Amino acid sequence: MLRVIDSVAGEGSHRLRNAAIAFAGLGIPVALLLTQLVIAASMQRQSRAAVEAGRAAAASLDHELVLREHAVEGIVANAEQILDGRVKSPVDVVSQLRARPEHGGYTLGWLPGYNAAELCSLMGEGAVPARGSESAREMQMAVALTPSFRVLRARGVEIPWPYYISRRGFLYLCPRAADDAFLWSHDLLKRYGALPAPEPVRADRRRLIWSPVYEDQAGKGLMTTLSGLVTHDGQTVGDVSIDLGVATLLERLGHHGLPDSTLRLLAADGVDMLGPAPLRTRVDPRTVATGAPVQVGDAEVVLCRVPSTGWNVAVVTPRRAMLGRALRESVVYGLMVLFMLACFALLLALARALRMVAAISVRDPLTGVYNRRHFDESMRVELSKARRMGAKLGLAILDVDHFKTYNDRYGHHAGDQALRAVAKALGGGLQRLSDLLFRIGGEEFAVVVYADRAEQVVMLGEKLCAAVRALDLPHTGSPLGRVTISVGATLIDPADDGDGERAYKCADAALYRAKEAGRDRVVRG
Ligand code: GH3
Ligand code: MG
Ligand code: MG
Repeated sequence: MLRVIDSVAGEGSHRLRNAAIAFAGLGIPVALLLTQLVIAASMQRQSRAAVEAGRAAAASLDHELVLREHAVEGIVANAEQILDGRVKSPVDVVSQLRARPEHGGYTLGWLPGYNAAELCSLMGEGAVPARGSESAREMQMAVALTPSFRVLRARGVEIPWPYYISRRGFLYLCPRAADDAFLWSHDLLKRYGALPAPEPVRADRRRLIWSPVYEDQAGKGLMTTLSGLVTHDGQTVGDVSIDLGVATLLERLGHHGLPDSTLRLLAADGVDMLGPAPLRTRVDPRTVATGAPVQVGDAEVVLCRVPSTGWNVAVVTPRRAMLGRALRESVVYGLMVLFMLACFALLLALARALRMVAAISVRDPLTGVYNRRHFDESMRVELSKARRMGAKLGLAILDVDHFKTYNDRYGHHAGDQALRAVAKALGGGLQRLSDLLFRIGGEEFAVVVYADRAEQVVMLGEKLCAAVRALDLPHTGSPLGRVTISVGATLIDPADDGDGERAYKCADAALYRAKEAGRDRVVRG
């Protein structure tokens, strides 16, 4: 048995080694290939994620900007209705204007119906306009916009200043500035579009205009101004404007960011609106495709256009960070595949080893024929098979004659050799695939065959006796002079003898009689 275990263990380790070699030969290249595929897929996925993030950020930013456009459009419409006289403004603004000769202009002090905190600042250039003049009517209108300005400010923290600038040279600014805090000058008014006089409406001009991004003079960071032109009697008389803090708007986009990417905002001409750009090379949105990843220096950049302003959200991801992430993912997948392949190879080796153990466990290690355990199992199986088929089985029990003396004369090793030779001769004497040979004891064998009559079993026994005799193994301790066998043969009818117990006893008794009768013969039981 130890030899069996040794051989199984040896064979098993051999199989394991083969499995390991196969695993190394196939598994490692497969894992490497897979790693490459995973890296490529991960890079693509990251690019796609950047495109999606950029699109979402641009859409969200555009939504915010369009909301502001609607707000300004609404106030412009309101302003035009007041100017057209469709909405009345009851306050008399001109009566409350105060000349500020030191600044070459005038300001609005106080108005009945407003408390000082609500009223915004009105500052104008030149002489105080006459009551009933166009300027005076326009001022009435500007002051009537106060509630809208206040609502606008309350809603959006990124709108520090809503205001109306008249081309007749005055500014109405929300919130109210200190009376002597002259934030404007002639140049400033001019820069903001407060031209000396209204101009005819130009059909080619958009009603809403976004200014380029600029640095706020009051230190509020980067700003852009959205202006809506107010027209009256075919003339552009002024603009309703709001200033927007760009950085504050972009903060809202933070949740569109990806872990390895930064979001930048580029003007239509590519100028980075958020200060020093991380882009080594400048990207010009006018020449670079938007909505798809492009290589810029050592980064991948995705530009997504913001339709309302023509700005571009740029998602900037360093290539090194992308590769790092892809590598980390590929290592995880690679290890998983290696692990799975290793498990598969081990299971294969184990299954083979188990098959081998099963094959060896039914064999007798000395002679290689089936063992006693398999005899018991085969008897059970063959009997039930024969019963189902309505067939009968022949059973022969064979015993080597005077084998104790053989061992005594020739030694145990020679005895083993003789047993091997006998088993081989017996095996050679069987012809059909269904004929089974077992070693059921020390020098005792059994043969189970399909047979119809007992004579057939006897004939087979005689054939086997002759086969052993033909070996002509000298045995000086036997009166017969050579190694011989005696056989007890019988026929089993599975219908009568369910477990073959009776037949076994019968064959054994016949064997005993064969011994008694002088050995080297067959006796029918
Ligand atoms: P008989 O003709 O009546 O069967 O006489 P016998 O000597 O063969 O019968 P006995 O039962 O007295 O002895 C059987 C012998 O078979 C005893 C044992 O030494 C020997 N034997 C059993 N198994 C082995 C084996 O595996 N190898 C060797 N060499 N001898 C074995
Ligand atoms: Mg015996
Ligand atoms: Mg014997």
